[in-house]
Amino acid sequence: MSTERDEIAVVGAGLAGCLLACFLARRGYPVALYERRPDPRTGRVERGRSINLALSERGLDALRRIGLAEQVMADALPMRGRMIHPVAGEPQFQSYSVDGDRAINSISRGALNNALLTAAAALPGVRIAFDHRLVGLDPTSGELTFETPQGKVTGTASVVLGADGAGSAVRGQLLAYGVLTESLDFLDYGYKELTVPPIGGEFALDPGALHIWPRGTSMMIALPNPDRSFTCTLFWPTHGTQSFASLGSPAAIERHFTTHYPDLVPLAPNLVDDYQHNPVGVLGTVRCTPWQVAGKVGLVGDAAHAIVPFYGQGANCAFEDVVELDRCLDECADHWASALPLYQHRRQANAEAIARMALTNFVEMRDKVASPVYRTRKKIEHALERALPGRYVSQYELVSFSTTPYAQVRRRVRRQYAAVGAVAAGALALLAGGVGAALGRRR
Ligand code: FAD
Repeated sequence: MSTERDEIAVVGAGLAGCLLACFLARRGYPVALYERRPDPRTGRVERGRSINLALSERGLDALRRIGLAEQVMADALPMRGRMIHPVAGEPQFQSYSVDGDRAINSISRGALNNALLTAAAALPGVRIAFDHRLVGLDPTSGELTFETPQGKVTGTASVVLGADGAGSAVRGQLLAYGVLTESLDFLDYGYKELTVPPIGGEFALDPGALHIWPRGTSMMIALPNPDRSFTCTLFWPTHGTQSFASLGSPAAIERHFTTHYPDLVPLAPNLVDDYQHNPVGVLGTVRCTPWQVAGKVGLVGDAAHAIVPFYGQGANCAFEDVVELDRCLDECADHWASALPLYQHRRQANAEAIARMALTNFVEMRDKVASPVYRTRKKIEHALERALPGRYVSQYELVSFSTTPYAQVRRRVRRQYAAVGAVAAGALALLAGGVGAALGRRR
C-alpha cells in the first residue's frame, strides 16, 4: 500500500460506488465520491422505486471483505425458495437448493446503501460530495464538471470511475467523445411496486419465500421487508390492450387484480392508490465497450452492464466488479493503465453471461415455474444433485450460492444438460430396444 497517491473520483454513491470507495480507501487512495442526490441518510425515500433486493453469495462475499456482511445480514430475511401462487388453489413452495437450507436474502436497498455510505465516510481519505451531478468529463485530462445547487463546479482526478448506474453520465461522456459504443435493449415490459402491509403486526404472507404470481404475459413477485410488509413488483407490458396503460380507473384496476391475482386483493388495501401513484420503471440491458479508456476512466456496475432484474443479480454482479477491480489492482501493483484493461477483460464475458441468464429467467419465472413439466424437471435436477454431489449443480445454485464466474456457470450448465440428454437418449434407446424385443416375442 502506498502513502502518496493521487485522488480517484468515483461518480455515483449508489451500491457499487460506495463499495468501490471502501475498497480504494483501504488501498490508501484519497477518494472523492460524487453523488447527484442529497445524502440519503437524511432525505426521503423515493416512492415505488425498488425498495428491497435479493442479496446472494456474490454480494455477501464482497461485503465480507470489508467487514460489513454481519451488519447487513442482521436485518436480512432469508428466502429459501419460491412460493408459486396460481390463480386458483393453494400456493406451492419450491426450494432453491437441494437441501432446502440455502437462501437468498431480502434486504432493504436503502439500508444497504446507507451502511455502505457510512462505512465509506468513516474511512480516512474519503470525501463525499452530495448534490453533485456529473455533467461533463474530459477523459484525457480527467477534468470533471458538476451541477450543484450553488452552480457549476469542476474538479480533476487522476482516475475517474463511473458507478453512476444504468443511465450513466460517465458512459454518456465517453460516448460523446467517440471513445465508446453502447447498445440499450429495452424490454416491452415495465415494473411497478405495490405494498402488502402487515396484518395485526405480522407478515401477511410467508416471509421465508420469494413469492411469484406467474401469469404468462405478466408476472408479480413479492419480497418481505423487516417492517413485516411485502413489496410486490408487477412486471407487465408498458403498452397494449393488456398493459399498464390499459387500466384507466380504480374499478378497472380492482377488476384486473381480482381476476388475475385474487389472493393478493384482500392483502393489499392500498392497491388502487399504489397502482395509480407509483411510477412504472423501465427494464433493459445495457451493453457497452470498452469499459475503460486509457487506464484513466473506467465503468463499474450498472454503468457498464445494466441487466434485467429476473435473476436478482444486478447488485451482486456490481459488487463482484468491485472485488475483481481490487484484485486487478493487486496483481498490477496499482498500475491503473494495466489494471483497468485486465478488469474489463475478466468481467465483460461474465456480465454478458448473467445478462443472458437474467433474460431467460424472465420466461422461466413468468411462464414455466407453474407448469407440471417444470416442477418435474426441478425434482429430477434435485435428485441428480443428491446423487452426484458437487458434480451436478443446478444453474440457480451456481449463480446464487457460489462465486463461480457467470460465464463458467453457463458453460458448466450446458455440459451438464448435454450429459443428462445423452444419458436420457441412451436410456430411451435401451428401453425402446427392450420394448421392441418383448413385443417381438409376443407375436
Ligand atoms: P445504482 O444503484 O443505480 O447507483 C447509481 C448511483 O449513481 C445513484 O446513487 C445515482 O443517484 C448516482 N448517479 C446517477 N447519475 C449521476 C450523475 N450524473 N452524477 C452523480 N451521481 C449520479 N439486483 C440484485 O442484486 N438483486 C435484486 O433482487 C435486484 N432487484 C432489482 C429489482 C428491480 C425492479 C430493479 C430495477 C433492479 C434490481 N436489481 C437487483 C439491480 C440493482 O438494483 C442494480 O444492479 C444495482 O443498483 C446497481 O448498482 P450501481 O451502484 O451500479 O447503480
